[in-house]
Amino acid sequence: MAHKFSPHSVEKLLSEERYTTVRPHQFLRDCGLESGMTVADVGCGPGFFTIPASNIVGRSGLVYAIDVQEEMIRMLKRRTRRKNIVPIVSDEHRIPLSARSVDFALLAYVLHETENKLRFLKEVKRIMRKGASMVVLEWKKKREKEGPPFHERLALKEAQGLITDAGFCIEGVTSFGTSHYIISAVK
Ligand code: SAM
Repeated sequence: MAHKFSPHSVEKLLSEERYTTVRPHQFLRDCGLESGMTVADVGCGPGFFTIPASNIVGRSGLVYAIDVQEEMIRMLKRRTRRKNIVPIVSDEHRIPLSARSVDFALLAYVLHETENKLRFLKEVKRIMRKGASMVVLEWKKKREKEGPPFHERLALKEAQGLITDAGFCIEGVTSFGTSHYIISAVK
C-alpha cells in the first residue's frame, strides 16, 4: 500500500504558514474556479482547499470532498458543515460518483500517494465532464527537509506521462514556489 499522509499530522496541512504561502482562495481563482461550478477535491484531507473552493463556487455550486481516509473526512466534517460541501469516503481507485458529474477536479498532493496512478487518474477522468479542467499540484522530485521523502515524490516528467496516458490533454505546467509544480489538464 502506498504511503498515506497521517491524520495525526494534519496540523501541518492547516498551518498558518501554509495559508500565507499557498493562499488557497487565490490559488483556486487563478486555476479558473468560478461561482456555480461543481468541484471534486480528490484527496481533500482536512479541507485546506475544500473550504476556499466552497466559498468560490457559492450556493449555486458544489464541492465533493473526497478522501480514502475516513479520519480525514471526519476532521473535515468537524471543521465545516456547509451545505455546498459533500464529504465522501472513497476507495483507492473508485470514487462513488456518476460519470461526467464535475466541472473541475483538484488533485493537491494526492497523486504521489496513490497505489496505481494511471488507474486513479482514469477514475478521476471518468467523473469529469468533457472539457472539464484538472489541476494537479505536487512536490518536485528533490531532497528537502520539508515534505515527503525523495522516494515518495513523483517527478514532473513521470506525472506528465501518466496524465497524458490517462487521456487528458495537458494545457500548462508551472513551477509553484521552489518545491512544487502545477500541471493543468483538460478532459
Ligand atoms: N489535498 C489536501 C491538501 O493539500 O491539504 C491533502 C493532502 S494529503 C498530503 C493527501 C491526501 O490524499 C490524504 O488525505 C490521503 O488520505 C488522500 N489520498 C491518498 N490516496 C488517495 C486516493 N487514492 N483517493 C483519494 N484520496 C487519497
